[in-house]
Amino acid sequence: MNAETTSLTSNEVYEDPLDIMDEIDKLKKEKEITILAHYYVDGEVQDIADHVGDSLKLARIATELETSRILFSGVHFMGESAKILSPDKQILMPDLNAGCSLAESCPPEKLDAFQKDLRKKGHDFVTVAYINTSAAVKSLCDWIVTSGNAQSIIERIPKDKEILFVPDKHLGRYLMEVCNREMILWEGACMVHEIFSLQDLLRAKKNNPGSIVVAHPECPQNILEVSDFIGGTEKIRLYANSIKEPTTFLVATEPAMIYPMQKSAPQHTYIPVPGIMATTGETCACNRCPHMALNTLAKIRDCLKNEAPEIVWKPYFADAQEVLKKSLLN
Ligand code: SF4
Repeated sequence: MNAETTSLTSNEVYEDPLDIMDEIDKLKKEKEITILAHYYVDGEVQDIADHVGDSLKLARIATELETSRILFSGVHFMGESAKILSPDKQILMPDLNAGCSLAESCPPEKLDAFQKDLRKKGHDFVTVAYINTSAAVKSLCDWIVTSGNAQSIIERIPKDKEILFVPDKHLGRYLMEVCNREMILWEGACMVHEIFSLQDLLRAKKNNPGSIVVAHPECPQNILEVSDFIGGTEKIRLYANSIKEPTTFLVATEPAMIYPMQKSAPQHTYIPVPGIMATTGETCACNRCPHMALNTLAKIRDCLKNEAPEIVWKPYFADAQEVLKKSLLN
């Protein structure tokens, strides 16, 4: 936990993060609210959570919890998925503006039109969506995958069917390679994973002999080609855990991921791979996900206090429920 982090409320009054953490502890116990946090939120938020994990792990935990109220510290599609899988639970989110560039790259109307066009052209296909999509998009799909279960689900799809994969073109290309299967890819990408600097990664590799590059499959091909291990966040963490000898890891995913890695395998050194600014081409720390960063301690405390905002059930959630259940819970 970075106790020196400055926490500012909306009226810009400084509050000690340790005091806010105490308040959060008290409120969540009093109100019997379970806090779930994604690996990409700040370390101090991960510290106050009851469960920390990737999208798949958290979606499953949400269905198993006995408490009827959950505060989901992550981004909007994660809260939506939790609500769809557990409609009777109240799903609170610290900031409903925490979206996802990848989810936004695939609006439901455009996907619907694209699917209709493909069918008109005679394609016989199954639509597979990465979990980073809105509920409205999920309701148009046959399977929902995470980076943790994508390969096994794709391998279950009959070979005589084409696959339309949405929305991440980089993850889709990677899956085509590992599953040895052609797919029709949607042109979406994550703003965080798309901007890693290959040059800086190669320089870091050279300056750290014996280091291991771990990368998320949302990264472009040029980054994956020089990586030693490719996997979703939970797989990356478990991989680092499996190596006992102190090692330097160059980490090509959202840098908050280093926090849980440091916690579970502290013998290693972790170096974030820098991003590169699209506008100037300069190396930067712009690979922090701005949406995940909206999950501040102060907002979590306020959300517990106000029991708002929350993900409200929408009629179209029902259409996404069956596909989410068969994809994530079986
Ligand atoms: S890191 Fe990328 S994919 Fe993940 S929530 Fe942020 S924008 Fe979406």
